[in-house]
Formats: sequence, C-alpha cells, structure tokens
Amino acid sequence: METLRCQCVSCNSDLASFVNLWVQIGKGYCSPVIEAENIKLDPKGPQRGGESGTLVADCLLQDLVCIKCQSNVGLKCVTSPVNHVLHEARKESELNIQRSLKLRQPVTSEPQQATSSDDRTPGDRPRASAAENGVHCQGSYASVSATPLGLERLQADLETQRADIDRIDTAAYQVVSSFDNSMSRIDREMQMLNDTVRDLRRDLEANKHELRPLKAGLSAVEANVSDKSALAKLESQLEMTNAAVSAMRKLATSAKTATHHLQADLQGSNREMRTLQTETSSLRQELNAAKKNAKDALAASKEQERQFSVLQSELGQMREAMAQDRARRPEPPKSDYPTNELEIITANVSKIGREAGQISSLQMEFDLFKSRMRRLEGRVSVCEAKDVNETQRGMDVGDGRQPAGAANAGDDDDDHAQSWFPQEGARKRRAAGVRDPGTTGADIETPPKQKRVAHPRDDVRPDTASSPIDVPLPHASSGRNRTVSAVTSSSSRQVNSRRQTMAGVQGRSAVKRKSRGGDDALDAIYTPPGD
Ligand SMILES: [Zn+2]
Repeated sequence: METLRCQCVSCNSDLASFVNLWVQIGKGYCSPVIEAENIKLDPKGPQRGGESGTLVADCLLQDLVCIKCQSNVGLKCVTSPVNHVLHEARKESELNIQRSLKLRQPVTSEPQQATSSDDRTPGDRPRASAAENGVHCQGSYASVSATPLGLERLQADLETQRADIDRIDTAAYQVVSSFDNSMSRIDREMQMLNDTVRDLRRDLEANKHELRPLKAGLSAVEANVSDKSALAKLESQLEMTNAAVSAMRKLATSAKTATHHLQADLQGSNREMRTLQTETSSLRQELNAAKKNAKDALAASKEQERQFSVLQSELGQMREAMAQDRARRPEPPKSDYPTNELEIITANVSKIGREAGQISSLQMEFDLFKSRMRRLEGRVSVCEAKDVNETQRGMDVGDGRQPAGAANAGDDDDDHAQSWFPQEGARKRRAAGVRDPGTTGADIETPPKQKRVAHPRDDVRPDTASSPIDVPLPHASSGRNRTVSAVTSSSSRQVNSRRQTMAGVQGRSAVKRKSRGGDDALDAIYTPPGD
C-alpha cells in the first residue's frame, strides 16, 4: 500500500499522511478512503451547508486550516446523512465470522513417518506425503504443526490480508453507497420525468380542447372571406369613398382659391375704405367750414331781413302818406321830390333784394354740398358696417333728414352745374346791377331802373308793387342804406369765395331748406337764368 504525505503549500510543514485510496466528491474534491494519520489540521470558521446538486448537498461543512500558518487547505464534513459516503458510521465495522477452520489435527498414526522425513526440504514434503499417503490435508497439517514459525508468518499474512479486505470492503461499501445514491437520484429524476410527461400530456389535451373552437372560428372566418358579395359591397363603398374624397379635395382647392380671391378683395376694399375714410374726414372738415360759413351767412341774412322789414314798413308808411296826399289833392301837382333821392331809395331796395337772392343761392350751394357729403358717406358705409355707424353719427351732426336717394340725384347735378355756374354768377351779378364784389364802394351808384331784383319774398318784389316808386324818401334812410350795403358787400365776398369751391345745381332744381337752428324759416325757389 502506498502512503502519501501531504505538505502545506505556504509553510511546507507536514499536514497528514494518507493511504493512496480516494473517493471523488462532486467535481473538485477527493476524500481519503482510510482515515489519515498524523493529522495537523484544525477546523476553523462557521459551519455551512454544502452546495446543492453535489454529493455534499445535505452535509454540514467547515473549513480546514494548517495549524502552523492558518492557511485554508480544504473542507471537513462535520455531519452527513445516514448511508452517505462521508457518514461516520461507516467506520464501525463488525466482525462477521463466516467459517471456522480447524488448525490442529489429533496425532494418532505413524509418528515415525513424520520424524523420518525431517531431513527433507519443506517444499518437497507435502508432495511426497501426498504421493505416499494420498491425503493432502493431513500432510500439510502435519507440516504446519511441525513448523510454528511458518504458522506465525501465515497469521501475519492473514492479518495484512484482513486489513486489505477491510479496506476493500470499505471502498466497496462506499462505491455501492454512491451507486445507491446515484440510483436513488436517477429514480427521483425518472419520477420527475414521468410527472413532467404527464403534465405535458395534460397540457397537450388542454391545447387540443382549446384548438377545437379556434378551428371552428377559423373555418367560419374562411367561410366569411369566401363570401364574395360582402367583399363586393365593401369594394363599392370604398370606391364611393374615394370618389367623395377626391371631390372634397377639389372643393377644398377651389375653396382655397376662392379664399385667396376673397382675401385679395378684402385687402383692396380695406385700402379703398382707408382712402374713403381719409376722404370722409377731409369732407367733414370742409362740411364744418361750410357750416360755419352758412351760419355767418344766415346771421347776415337775418340782419338784412330785419333791415328789409324796416324798409318795407317805411315804404308802407310812404305809400299811405302818398295815398292820403292824392286823396287830399285830386289834382296832384308835379312831384316835388327830387328824382335822384327816389333813385337812391330804389337802388337800396334792389340791393337788399339782390343780397337776399345771394343768400338763397348760398343756401342752395350749401345744400348741394350736403348732398355730396351724404353720397360720399354712403360709399363709405358700403365698405364697412362699422364705418356706417361713424357716418351716421356724422350725418346726425350735420343734417341727416334728407333721404339717401337724393345723394344719387345730386351726383349728376354736380357735374352739370359746374358748366354753367360761373356764367350764372356773372349774369346774376349783372341782373342785380353789381359790378364786382371788389368795387363795393360804388354799389350805391344807380343801376338801370327797369332791371328787376329776384327775391324770395314775393310781396317785396318790385314787380309786384302796383306802382313805380315815386314816394318821397323817408328820413334817416341813407345811413341805414350804408350799413346794409356794407353788410351785403361782405356777404357777397363770401358768396363769391364759396362759389369757387362749391358746385352748383343743374337745370330747374328746387331746393327746400329749413335752417338748422329752427329759429328762422327761409324758403328759396331758385331758377337759373337762361332757362
Ligand atoms: Zn501551513
């Protein structure tokens, strides 16, 4: 038997000596079959369970360290299950006597033969005795009993063989035990395999049961798919949907282009509206200026009217005085009144009438201007409704009582009126006997007597007067005439300046106007000359 001596790698000290018989445990460990001798190892550290799946799975293990240098050299199995390879009980062997041998034979016959053959060699003796006696055992026993030294040697051999047999028995026991373990493990695994196969079969059955309705559903789906009519219906619906989508796309593009056009139009109309707004504001300013002028003219006309009424009353008094004179004197002598005074009075009266006519023409122009304003505001209101409100407010400020339809009529009047208006002014001036507004200082010069003055009031017209004026001039009339002429000259200057900017009226247009203040009513019927 070989003996191994183990040494520590770190300190080279002897650890133990082993008989060279080993049992492999798991993959990386070997265990000595026979207990080692001269062990110089110590268990150290906590005890722990072995790694599962290996031979030491159920064992309790502890580290072994070198006594000298305390370096780890292996594991010690502290406890292990019964019948395990490393179980401690395996070392308790029992003596099992299977047969007993008789070692001594009673010496009864021929002791001489034994003594006579003493000189022979021991190797020849059994053969010779066997050949002589025919009994092998007797001869050998005789030789054993004859040599006690050989018997002791035999006993020693027997002892060593018994030790070998013990070792072999232990190894065989361990091998059989490991084989038994493996077999039991195989049995367990076979049992698990059977269980697994049974589970698999059960799962397969369940899968088959589940597959059956799925197959039925699949066949139904196939039947549905093979149904051509539903498919055709779906295709037709798809085509209709495609057509509708394309039509909607066309509509969308057309709507887009229309939107672009509308946006362009909107921008254009916005620009137009802006220009119209600026135009409206400028016209409003002009309207305010015209209103101011008209107010001034109205004030002047009131003053003139008042003076005119005074003159009228004076004329009436003179007529009464004249009538009384005639009644008193049936034969009227030649008039003592100087004719130049009469002419002066006539000139003053005609001048007042002319100024009244100019006021009426001024009012007419103002009305025309208002109609133009209204027309422009109507165009602005078309552009935007918001602007309409502003325009309405502007009309409320001015004069919104005239209907909007009159604005269109005034549009044409405007163009025609400008063609004849300057001549009209000149003719009117000639008719009134005025040379020029700049030469108002000479207004008192005598106009032709037969010329008539157009005046809105019929009762003060000279043609309606029954007789030519040959009444003596009342007192204090010359000074009043001078104030009248001064007023009229200023108002005529205003009229002429307005004529340059304002438009006239076409043909026979009648403008009826009420003064805005409501304090005075003045109706004027204007007939352009030459008609
Ligand atoms: Zn060591």
